[in-house]
Amino acid sequence: MIAKVEPLTTARALRGPFDYRLREDQGEADVGALLRIPFARRSELGIVVGLAEHSELEPDRLAEPDALLRGGLPADLVELALWMASEYCSTPARALGLMLAPGTAQGARAREVLLAELSEAGERALGGEERLTDRQRGALERLRVDGPTAAAALGTDTLRRLERRGLVALERRAERRRPAQATVGAASREPPPLTADQEAALNEVLLALEGTAPGGLLLHGVTGSGKTEVYLRAVEAALAGGASAIVLVPEIGLTPQAVGRFTARFGDVVAVLHSALGQGERYDEWMRLRRGEARVCVGPRSAVFAPLADIGLIVVDEEHDGSYKHEGDPRYDARAVALRRAEQHGAVLVCGSATPRPESVATLRRLRLARRVDGRPLPPVEVLDMRGQHHPLHPRTRMALADVRRGERKAIVLVNRRGWSNFLSCRACGRAWMCPNCEVSLVLHRAGFVACHHCGHREPVPERCGSCGSAALARHGAGTERLEHELRAALGGDSFPVFRLDADVAGGKDRAGLTLARFESARAGVLVGTQMVAKGHDFPDVTLGVVLDADRTLRFPDFRAEERTFALITQLAGRAGRGDAGGTVLVQTLAPEARSIAHAARHDADAFLEEELGRRKILGYPPFGSLIRVVCAAADAGEASTVAASLHERIAAPGATVLGPAPLFRLRGRARSQLMVKAADRPAAIAAVGAAVEGVASVASRRKVNISVDVDPQ
Ligand code: ADP
Ligand code: ZN
Ligand code: ZN
Repeated sequence: MIAKVEPLTTARALRGPFDYRLREDQGEADVGALLRIPFARRSELGIVVGLAEHSELEPDRLAEPDALLRGGLPADLVELALWMASEYCSTPARALGLMLAPGTAQGARAREVLLAELSEAGERALGGEERLTDRQRGALERLRVDGPTAAAALGTDTLRRLERRGLVALERRAERRRPAQATVGAASREPPPLTADQEAALNEVLLALEGTAPGGLLLHGVTGSGKTEVYLRAVEAALAGGASAIVLVPEIGLTPQAVGRFTARFGDVVAVLHSALGQGERYDEWMRLRRGEARVCVGPRSAVFAPLADIGLIVVDEEHDGSYKHEGDPRYDARAVALRRAEQHGAVLVCGSATPRPESVATLRRLRLARRVDGRPLPPVEVLDMRGQHHPLHPRTRMALADVRRGERKAIVLVNRRGWSNFLSCRACGRAWMCPNCEVSLVLHRAGFVACHHCGHREPVPERCGSCGSAALARHGAGTERLEHELRAALGGDSFPVFRLDADVAGGKDRAGLTLARFESARAGVLVGTQMVAKGHDFPDVTLGVVLDADRTLRFPDFRAEERTFALITQLAGRAGRGDAGGTVLVQTLAPEARSIAHAARHDADAFLEEELGRRKILGYPPFGSLIRVVCAAADAGEASTVAASLHERIAAPGATVLGPAPLFRLRGRARSQLMVKAADRPAAIAAVGAAVEGVASVASRRKVNISVDVDPQ
């Protein structure tokens, strides 16, 4: 038998699969099997992607795999990987690499323990005349009361002696490394009765599960409308029908509540794949899914590759969230992969959000949850014009925060950036402090340094300007750190703590979850942070939400700027007024008339979506066309743009427009040159870009130019 094998190497220039002759003892190697193979004079791991009776190669040129390893992938994931490789102009090896059991390359395996169990003879011995030491008798007694127990707990030597006399049985068993559970939010096992809206939406999902209504569904429900309860019931129905389910959530560290609700409702049948887990725990969770012991997988974007069989339902919670896009090669979008996987399995896809993407509105069948659970209104939103204001907080904002403090309630303040204040410049000559590697301004931190948020470069805060020598340095903007400091000075105290949540704080293992838990359990206080504070948290006692610099996202040169701004304000508003005390939202901005801000202030998602889709139609943006971004990076700017120019010439797709090469700012010391392809015919454009990249691959590698392709860039 011939196995067609993709070696798991990352080199782009190789074109697999490669043929290997399976030995007699390797007959079990099916599609998805993991092999150790001789490859290019090295030993590599490889995945079988196909089987054949014959090979085109001369028999004496056919190599044999060194070994068939445990692990590997189910066949449907192999198929998915091959699709991903072509859809995202990547390689099968890179796509397969994302799907393997965690730690495969490092030889991860199950942890085993020696388990002791009382035998029948042991049972009799306890009641009879057997000679036993006190210690032996104690161990047998424990086994009778507790049942099978880890040998180490009772003394392995003692048990070995008892085993030799046939009084206990010892056996090695795999032991699950259990991930610690996130504990934010009281999650109850007992489901509440559904509201009429939830009932109606759930019925549509159930019909789809029965197979009578094909296509993906979009659960468009306002914040606090109880979307999670609909997912929970849908998962319950899928399980009852014998199917399994995947639930994708944005970064888990930031949404521990969502995960908690699933584990609380379904218990051990849920496996959580979480990047903050240790490798052993992740491996065990993965194996539980693979063996079918766990039937529901909850996790961030990579959970879309959960090795489940018979998938009946895939849920994408907060489907607008940017974390669903993977930033390494292949630059996949978990929402698109989820759709593909659902099609493979004949499963139902349910995407949910209060601020769905225009793409989803245009392509999925929409179900609505128009009201919050138990009919609380959405909080009123006031837009505060910051033109001419000098303090980072509008007087109205300061008043509202003081009210929250007086009333012993909670507030969330979202700052559209991080750092103490955004950047430094010289008042005398205007020089701005830039990263030497990346051509972006360095962000000032209170601890006395400036840092680049792209490459991590740091330097101490300068005392004088390096160009003109002036000591008058200006600090611009109000970052999270500065605001935390100011709020603490103005309001803080033991009874009114100020918490901060941003990438600097969230860096450590589950630090974000800890901060959220502390904010939740505080009697009153303020949570200050970046976008992270606007994720789907459900804290009933938050009465005030504030967005600072709402228009900052509008100033990005990106066609999604409007969508992002609308989502940010709506999501933050969604955190406020979930309890009996109601709530208010304040939006500070220099652009009070901006479309996205005005619509968000009126909670008018429909009007926003309609206008946004109209605009995109005219411009040919998604969903009316596809974008593909190609970036060439090299130490030398000339080499990067030469390769980009030659790519431009080679990309020939009917109806596609190719813009560029355009220079981008340097990143991590490398010059970059970009092409942007806009096309109505997506498959043709992907094929054309893929062929062009392949065409220049060898020239690029000779010139040390790295090419990265991003289909549907964010
Ligand atoms: P969304 O995700 O739509 O913003 P959540 O799923 O967080 O909303 O639900 C908001 C709150 O309402 C949660 O505390 C949830 O437990 C509660 N909830 C959901 N459905 C019901 C229901 N039918 N009856 C009572 N409470 C509910
Ligand atoms: Zn100067
Ligand atoms: Zn940098």
